Amino acid sequence: MSRTLPVNKNDYIDVIFEDLTHDGAGVAKVEGYPLFVPNGLPGEKAKVKIIKVNKSYGIGRLIELYEPSPYRVEIPSNEKNKYGGCQLEHISYEGQLKYKENQVRQVLARIGKLEDVAVHPIIGMNNPWHYRNKAQVPVAEKDGKLIAGFFKPRSHEIVDTNESLIQIAEVNKAVQTVKEICSKLGIPAYREETHQGVLRHIMARYGNQTGELMVVIITKTADIPHKNKMLEEIALRLPKVKSIVHNVNSKRTNVILGDKTTVLWGNEFIYDYIGDVKFAISALSFYQVNPVQTKVLYDKALEYADLTGNEKVIDAYCGIGTISLFLAQKANKVFGVEIVPEAIEDAKRNAVLNGMGNVEFAVGEAEVVIPKWYKEGNAADVLVVDPPRKGCDEALLQTILDMKPKKVVYVSCNPATLARDLRILEDGGYKTVDVQPVDMFPQTTHVEAVAKIIFNEGN
Ligand code: SAH
Repeated sequence: MSRTLPVNKNDYIDVIFEDLTHDGAGVAKVEGYPLFVPNGLPGEKAKVKIIKVNKSYGIGRLIELYEPSPYRVEIPSNEKNKYGGCQLEHISYEGQLKYKENQVRQVLARIGKLEDVAVHPIIGMNNPWHYRNKAQVPVAEKDGKLIAGFFKPRSHEIVDTNESLIQIAEVNKAVQTVKEICSKLGIPAYREETHQGVLRHIMARYGNQTGELMVVIITKTADIPHKNKMLEEIALRLPKVKSIVHNVNSKRTNVILGDKTTVLWGNEFIYDYIGDVKFAISALSFYQVNPVQTKVLYDKALEYADLTGNEKVIDAYCGIGTISLFLAQKANKVFGVEIVPEAIEDAKRNAVLNGMGNVEFAVGEAEVVIPKWYKEGNAADVLVVDPPRKGCDEALLQTILDMKPKKVVYVSCNPATLARDLRILEDGGYKTVDVQPVDMFPQTTHVEAVAKIIFNEGN
């Protein structure tokens, strides 16, 4: 017999929530045993029903709220938005910011043993709605019409959603308009169960500074019925459209984009600016989704890099070179490294577009390319890293400790791996002097932060 758990299925118990999970569920502890309860907020006392018990955690349902949190708000529109990834929309924006800032502090202390580091108040948005410049929306048919929206959690059912509250209005309008046009023309939706039909997803991207719109039609088939009429209507009804692209994905897969991409109308790229730097964005380009906060984040990274114009800078995990080009405005030379070859093609194009001759880009793993550069005698004065959620590879951290750049600027989308990596750098003689959380994804649980780390000459 395994050890008895403090709760049983179908029990009703009273709890106080202490924390939130990554999905935005409330976390309560019963004799140390964690219970995850959707819709519970930290500080709230509630009656919950236990609906599932696993060895290491249980799941409950909120039955009655005794004391609502002062940060609890009415859900702005309707439940639908939640399916679109707005896990925190039942928390006031003030509450969301407080939660994210605390999370950075707590994780740095717990995992990084960095109790004394200066974590600055999080920088939020003035308007934390309608900020996303991109949408990729699955399409289905209902009652003879096309619908497009989000999947219900743990299901394949699509909820028709005309207005996502986190997408820029032009992006919402583009998706809705293309859906209406295709529906009117009788273009059939793709059906997952039978792998038949045509239209899989509608994607829209918007250059917030330029007002340029791109529409991407993703289909299972190489042909789109009534294609010319469709293009004509889209161009007519969406005057901001500069590019209409067709992507064919004929596989049985959850991956949205397929291998074949062709421009049907207009240009291959739309353009956007972050600060003074111009970017060309194709249908497949990775590009930050919150243009307003991206500028805030990069400005902070640039401030922390504290460049005088003489420095050699390495930008690891550089994507399409957004941070690299931002830094190149103030550095002597910037070297960007990124694993995805297409992103490096974009990065090179963007360097030319901005007439920046002091940037070079290399394809490869940061943990392989940077040690190689170092062995060849190429060290950096400032090293910037912006790794994916799993953080920096150990080999890269070791190279930083060998190379000893004066400054490291760490842009992080996961406080836990940031804390782990900062501890390694601290043990190797670096000191974390500033940490600035920036809210890149309001209404969601994503937490972004940028840290300034300097080499401690005294060590
Ligand atoms: N700095 C960019 C992108 C950051 S996202 C921006 O601000 O837009 C993280 C990037 O790291 C992705 O582009 C991903 O493709 C890349 N990446 C993931 N693992 C990598 C590795 N081991 N070496 C280099 N790049 C990697």
